[in-house]
Amino acid sequence: MLSTNRIILIAFGLAVVSCHAASEDTRQLALLGGTILDGTGAPEVTNGVVIVNGDRISCIGSSADCAVPTRAEIIDVTGKWVTPGLVDSHVHFSQTGWFDGRPDGIDATEVFPYVGVASKLREQPERFYRSYLCSGVTAVYDVGGHQWTLSLGTNTENDADAPHIRAAGSLVTHAGLDILNADGLNTFLPMSTVAEGRESVRKLSDWGSTAIKVWWIKPADDEAKTLDEVYLAVADEARARNLDLIVHVTTLREAKLAVGAGAQLLVHGVLDDPVDEEFLRAVVENDVVYTPTLVVSSNWWRALASVALNTPNQANDPNSCVDPDTARKIADTSILAPYLPEYMSTEQAEKMLEYVSEYEEFLKSELLKVHAAGITIATGTDAGNPLTLHGASMMDEMLFMQDAGIPAAEILVMSTQNGARAMGRLEDFGTLAPGKIADLLVLGADPSVDVANFKKLEMVVRAGQPHSIADLSYGRRCAASDEPGDVVQAQVEAYNDHDLDGFLACYADDAAIHDLTGKQPVIRGQSDIRETYTFLEHIPEGAGVEIIDRIISDSIVVDMERFVGIPEGAVMPDAVAVYEVRDGKIQSVWFPPADVN
Ligand SMILES: [Zn+2]
Repeated sequence: MLSTNRIILIAFGLAVVSCHAASEDTRQLALLGGTILDGTGAPEVTNGVVIVNGDRISCIGSSADCAVPTRAEIIDVTGKWVTPGLVDSHVHFSQTGWFDGRPDGIDATEVFPYVGVASKLREQPERFYRSYLCSGVTAVYDVGGHQWTLSLGTNTENDADAPHIRAAGSLVTHAGLDILNADGLNTFLPMSTVAEGRESVRKLSDWGSTAIKVWWIKPADDEAKTLDEVYLAVADEARARNLDLIVHVTTLREAKLAVGAGAQLLVHGVLDDPVDEEFLRAVVENDVVYTPTLVVSSNWWRALASVALNTPNQANDPNSCVDPDTARKIADTSILAPYLPEYMSTEQAEKMLEYVSEYEEFLKSELLKVHAAGITIATGTDAGNPLTLHGASMMDEMLFMQDAGIPAAEILVMSTQNGARAMGRLEDFGTLAPGKIADLLVLGADPSVDVANFKKLEMVVRAGQPHSIADLSYGRRCAASDEPGDVVQAQVEAYNDHDLDGFLACYADDAAIHDLTGKQPVIRGQSDIRETYTFLEHIPEGAGVEIIDRIISDSIVVDMERFVGIPEGAVMPDAVAVYEVRDGKIQSVWFPPADVN
């Protein structure tokens, strides 16, 4: 799916000095001159060398430590940073990132039949694989979902176009939702009695799962005691079958019990109550990995509010790692409006949005307590939930941790080494060391001073195969939606920002610009349009256009433009621009002569 070759390496500025025609020999890479951050938190190595032999790292260190094999492809990474690939320790491949995958949030199965959504997820996981690699994520832990997710691990382990995946399969729970269990998908297996809980664990073990995820939603008071017993039986059955135990738990009482009974991984952590000393000590003493999932709840509320308020969503996705289908769905909130649950009034939506920042402050202070206690934190997003998008949400989660006050250098370790530990795969990846699988990133800026520098991702190596970001990206989009008015508006804004790439992202590859005065020839195609508009990068700040009137009729947008920020004394009459927009891109523009105004 994703070709890699020397031309691409050169194209994104990493010169390949020598190359060797592939024979039966394995491919060798030598990344030279970069600053290496190995994922353990050890001091950086400047002017470093990483030698990759086949799918493994064979040497890492200074030029004195590692000889460069004569036939290695040299990748000059001088002035760049090299880190392990990121690990998202909480994702769901059986969710889409929108409500079509969570009809329990907004039931729009009339327009998005759930079984159809599930089949598409099963048939096309590659679109999310690409989103993950594009976001620098080379391994993910799928901690619960449809039965078919259990095959993803073996399917992707040696696939350089996919992240490593470990999947837990069906969630064992007392709180299953019928709507997500349709047609034998088995999102949930039951645990309402001890016998049922044990049987569910046996079933998962037979299906090939290596980890059991318990979805332990806060029980009603009169159920709590019974559930404690069932949980202990499930934990016991998992231990007997040598299965890891992952527990989704958000309340302090249940979290303490989960930790005491042998959970290896707590996902979400305590969200509903403040943590206490006893809990923090137990997590440390039992060596439990803690994945806080900080952005997912707010994203649910933002997603619901966006439908109630009819505001299109756009991912924080500078490298266009979100697949176009998902991007379109999250932008088109109006299609879900008729199915919004009754309680989600406009007022309720506004109230929820106000509550988001208050809740986020609580999460930040709790995270700092967990961090201060010395607990092993692994970054995890809960990707697949509405607006927590596969791949792209990793950046949101890391930025949240940084905003809370955790230093970037530590977040780097939490997002690499600790994630691999959460997955039980630290022997194989998560840090850069000889013998480990060559999953690594090349960045244009230092992520140990600011995690936002993971946006400056230039190359992703997975199992020794380099991919450029240009190769992984789904391409820059013009606007959040494909609506002609939004596309033209985004184009005007890019023009006013003097952002040439953003401007060109609004034009189709074969777009044409017609000057109806007859003075200018037709400008056709991206490269000619780029050449014509390079002046944007040189004009004074503030120079641009103001739209004084706009008419939209289907695919045609007519703007009356007034030039602003022009030099004193210069005269530029108002102009009319007529756009034809199709599939989210401007196909044609006509500029009529000024005197018809
Ligand atoms: Zn989850």
